[in-house]
Amino acid sequence: MKIVPLIGPCGKIPILIRDDDINFFTQYNKLNLIYSEAWKKSFKVSFSIIPYQISMNDPCVPPNYRNVQKNCYSIEKNDKLCSYLREKIAMNQVEIIQHGLTHKLSNGRGEFSEMFYPRILNPVEDSREKVPIHNIIDPVNKDQKYESNFEAYLNIGRNILKKSFNIDPLIFVPPYDDISYENINLISRAGMIPVYGQSKYHKLFRSNLIPSKIKSYLVLRIIKKFANKGFIIPLMMSNLDYFKAEPKNGLPLYIPRRLKLNPISQDEKELIASESKVFLNWVYRTVAHCKIYRNPICILNHYHHYFYDWHQYKITRDNLFTQWSLILNLLDKIPFSWKTNFYDLYQRIQDIRKIKFTETGNKITIQSSQHAVTDVSFKVDKKIELKNDNIICDHYDERIITVKRINPGTNVTIYLR
Ligand SMILES: [Zn+2]
Repeated sequence: MKIVPLIGPCGKIPILIRDDDINFFTQYNKLNLIYSEAWKKSFKVSFSIIPYQISMNDPCVPPNYRNVQKNCYSIEKNDKLCSYLREKIAMNQVEIIQHGLTHKLSNGRGEFSEMFYPRILNPVEDSREKVPIHNIIDPVNKDQKYESNFEAYLNIGRNILKKSFNIDPLIFVPPYDDISYENINLISRAGMIPVYGQSKYHKLFRSNLIPSKIKSYLVLRIIKKFANKGFIIPLMMSNLDYFKAEPKNGLPLYIPRRLKLNPISQDEKELIASESKVFLNWVYRTVAHCKIYRNPICILNHYHHYFYDWHQYKITRDNLFTQWSLILNLLDKIPFSWKTNFYDLYQRIQDIRKIKFTETGNKITIQSSQHAVTDVSFKVDKKIELKNDNIICDHYDERIITVKRINPGTNVTIYLR
């Protein structure tokens, strides 16, 4: 007998939408063009914001800022964008995520990929070149003297976001999804929740056994391959991961690749028949998989991909936008979805983790140690005997059980047939 606790209340699939690379240069009306439909459908959008964008050769900055002298641009200086986002935060439509500090690359590696040394405090100069060490001037606390450490570097960005949006950003997404295990732990110790990739590819880059020259070579090839492409990536989380001892920190995500199951219905197959709808196809497969296991799904977007290459007003990648619209409809049609954001998902996981499931013979006992938890669901591989109003079976899958309320100090008992 296997009991798999589910994260979503009532066994619903948590659905998240994330857009990386919002920065000083972002025009707020572009976000509106891409996400107004999502908001109409009551989705929440998590924006990963680069607090102090450096001028660099990357599609996330406009072309005329790519090959110029290095300078940093604080999001705070884009008044229109900040007030637009503050309004959206007040309406609970947007979550603000800290996306590193400057988004800079050194030898192809992200700014949170390695151990922090004092010299990295200057984000303008390449930390690996022999340059005079002088500390960055924090645009928020100009008189603040920072010590040369990780938290100081992190806090420059965190303070910019606090000041720009009147919130403390508690979720952290590393630029290029490139972060070491040490830094994942340090982010947690600073009271933030790191969200990071946990696929084979990510583990390779975190491994101390692979020489850094090989990592740099690989990453530069990947960046070159994807630099001028537009993409939408489905990310998945595993319900089971959250109940294991490791990883203790944050929210690990997987890029679904070769899913064994492909239970796509005939109608859906026709819809995705067109080869040009590669991302729609990928998301369809992921959704089909998650419908069975009730795993959380996150769709990763980059608004600037739709306006390539920094077209001022109009969407230039129509095919990508069509796919995005179809993906939104697909997600909206899932009959058991929980449209949420990273912070709420994390809180829910903390609640579910405190629940103890014990199995003896054909009896399952469920306890909550600290406080009452509602709509707790889990999946079993046998049918159960329903004996009270507090326990209900899922409408679509009778092996998914929901306990409406678990009070602290009282046991909920369920018998298997
Ligand atoms: Zn980024």
